[in-house]
Amino acid sequence: MEYKKNDIVTVTIEDIGNDGEGIGKTDGYTLFVKDAIIGDVVEARITKCKKNYGYARVEKVVTPSSFRVEPKCSFHRQCGGCQIQAMSYARQLIYKQDKIRNNLVRIGGFATEKIDEVMEPIVGMEEPWHYRNKAQFPVGYDRQGNLITGFYAGRTHDIIANTDCALGAPENKLILEAVLTYMKENNVTAYRESTGDGLVRHVLIRTGFWSGEIMVCLVVNGGKLPASERLIENLLAIRFDGTGENGQDKRIASISISTNTEKTNVIMGKEIRVLWGKGYIQDTLCGLTFSISPLSFYQVNPRQTEKLYGLALAYADLTGKETVWDLYCGIGTISLCMAKKARQVYGVEVVAQAIEDARENARVNQIENVEFYEGKAEEVLPAFYEKASREEWMEEGLALEKRGEGRSENKLHPDVIVVDPPRKGCDEKCLETMLKMRPERIVYVSCDSATLARDLKVLCDGGYELRKVRGVDQFGGTVHVETVCQLVRNKQEHKKRINYREEEVEDCGCIYG
Ligand code: SAH
Repeated sequence: MEYKKNDIVTVTIEDIGNDGEGIGKTDGYTLFVKDAIIGDVVEARITKCKKNYGYARVEKVVTPSSFRVEPKCSFHRQCGGCQIQAMSYARQLIYKQDKIRNNLVRIGGFATEKIDEVMEPIVGMEEPWHYRNKAQFPVGYDRQGNLITGFYAGRTHDIIANTDCALGAPENKLILEAVLTYMKENNVTAYRESTGDGLVRHVLIRTGFWSGEIMVCLVVNGGKLPASERLIENLLAIRFDGTGENGQDKRIASISISTNTEKTNVIMGKEIRVLWGKGYIQDTLCGLTFSISPLSFYQVNPRQTEKLYGLALAYADLTGKETVWDLYCGIGTISLCMAKKARQVYGVEVVAQAIEDARENARVNQIENVEFYEGKAEEVLPAFYEKASREEWMEEGLALEKRGEGRSENKLHPDVIVVDPPRKGCDEKCLETMLKMRPERIVYVSCDSATLARDLKVLCDGGYELRKVRGVDQFGGTVHVETVCQLVRNKQEHKKRINYREEEVEDCGCIYG
């Protein structure tokens, strides 16, 4: 049967796609149905037809799946931020566990038995709502010209009014209302993307879940805000319910503006001006204190991050003697957690500001056995390796290792390398250098199990064995999931390589003296 756009078909949803969409077949024709839940029978309207498959939207749920739940947010279909909010949380976790497993098998080429043997059950959230400590709300006008704040309707820049995102901190609503009141009472305009005029573009809110400190930063199309003392008054008048996890009242600790006059989708401007309080908030993660300024990167789900880092630390298996590299280290959170249990940690990160923050965080926490390098992992690591090889390969490294001594003193052979790359995964050159450096263990923290699987294949082909895999859900309601893996150097392979190098030593007597 030939289908065409706008046809309505009845389809049973049998699977879930990568973006959370339901997958079902009608007369052998596969349909990817947005917002359908596995187990649903739906009437779907076809939106796009290809030869063997098509895309569709739910018109009507005929028989709801037993996994279907009442979504908390009435805007979830328009927003697109929570692709699977209508799926029960227990089923979301199964979906994420399967996603990791399937990618490791299909892309990584691992045997299913191997994955079943090494994979531990996913770590879920106790409360999959209101878990985000950071939110950026666009400010603008609705069709009637009313001042609003909310979110962009999926893939557009039309703002839909909603101050009550189910994933964000509950305090956001009161703060956004105070900002809107200030704007209305003082005739402060919102930015219009189409013309480039108007003032307020976004409101950034960050909450220290532990400390109770809250930061509000208005992104402004200009250098200042009129009657800013009114904004401060409105914000400071808010009485928040509850306390931070440390027992202190939730309170505003920082009010600032960020100037962004560019016609761009980048939200934050580079220049920050403090209007009231400190320029940053502090929060505690894994017993360490971090200062977070409006521009710094900080994990958005602190509770699950502690579990994620705890797992990374367990997989690193540190005794206090180890040399550890933490590649893609951000503001040094993993580096500093590891430093308490290692001899020396080296962190590498491409964003200069993050490296500055990392060094400051080390100082504030009085951690001295860390060093941070600014640059790309795929450049810093090979350069370090080349340099260290020239300096130490013969004199120290090889001699020590031959005697089976002092590995941990040997910079060429770190005991553990931790990587936590962005979605695109590790660069080939980085993986290649990691293999050359032959750490005992590699801990891979990943936010995309497809690129993780691709990289694990390279590492396992290069002499490592996948020993442990575990998902950690940081993003309930969405299709995203973090994964932590432990890889251990294959001893057989290690021997082969050592032999190979010794032959080289004999062959190349001139170089090695
Ligand atoms: N481990 C940190 C940050 C992880 S996010 C944490 O848990 O908080 C990934 C980080 O990799 C980001 O900070 C990003 O700026 C950095 N990054 C991206 N590409 C990089 C590269 N090629 N080399 C080094 N760092 C990179």
